Amino acid sequence: MIANNPPSRPIVLCLSGHDPSGGAGIQADIEAILAQQCHAAPTVTALTVQNTVNVSDFRVLDRDWVLAQANAVLSDMPVAAIKLGMLGNIEMVDTILELIHQHPHLPLVCDPVLTAGGGGSLGKDDVGYAIREKLLPLATISTPNLPEARILAELPEGSADQCAEVLMNYSKNLLIKGGHATDPIISNRLYSQSKETLIFTCQRLPGNFHGSGCTLASALAGRLALGEELASAVKTALDYTWRTLRDAEAPGHGQYIPRRLPLDFCS
Ligand code: PLP
Repeated sequence: MIANNPPSRPIVLCLSGHDPSGGAGIQADIEAILAQQCHAAPTVTALTVQNTVNVSDFRVLDRDWVLAQANAVLSDMPVAAIKLGMLGNIEMVDTILELIHQHPHLPLVCDPVLTAGGGGSLGKDDVGYAIREKLLPLATISTPNLPEARILAELPEGSADQCAEVLMNYSKNLLIKGGHATDPIISNRLYSQSKETLIFTCQRLPGNFHGSGCTLASALAGRLALGEELASAVKTALDYTWRTLRDAEAPGHGQYIPRRLPLDFCS
């Protein structure tokens, strides 16, 4: 060990799918976590075939490979928070459940990923219901957008409040994101068991984005790893995500990719 090493940054274990375009998934997680001054420890749960336009295929990894990756990190590093992204099928939900049961005291952010930004599916069978039944109760907070909340709550036309009424039967805290509506002002609603609902508003930015949900959930996990209190962490992560969308770039033919790190990172 090098003498006078600075102490390590808080470590966030993220379990997510790989997106080869680099816009969403594990790369989004790593960038957003680094931007919070945390260290990202990425475990891959699934591989996807996609670009900024849409997803054409995905493959969920074997249970043993995922557990081996995560346990290698957990047995070595003082992980301070866990972030869940794409899980892809019910078997992977059960695998993650097994892992989480061994670390019940770590803050857990669950992003219930069901579709890609372009609309293609990222989950097989009833993965959403398995997430609702098994993972939402364990999560410190879950972060569905309104379409995901409607699927999880089984209310196809439900408002955020109606979906929350159902989902708060399963959740400690729930952030329903309003980005998929059309209003010029986006309302993101934080529901908690013990406190009043908080509404965080921001101005809608033009364009469609790829990886905004991953960015938000990972930034939030980073803030919790730093010890920030939940409502404040949600606000910090939402504000950070909004800036990454304001500064987004269009490297492909489809959606914009959030700019999560400063361009002068190396200087
Ligand atoms: N995880 C993976 C691996 C993905 O490929 C995607 C979208 O393509 C997502 C998560 C969710 O993306 P978003 O943050 O746009 O909701």
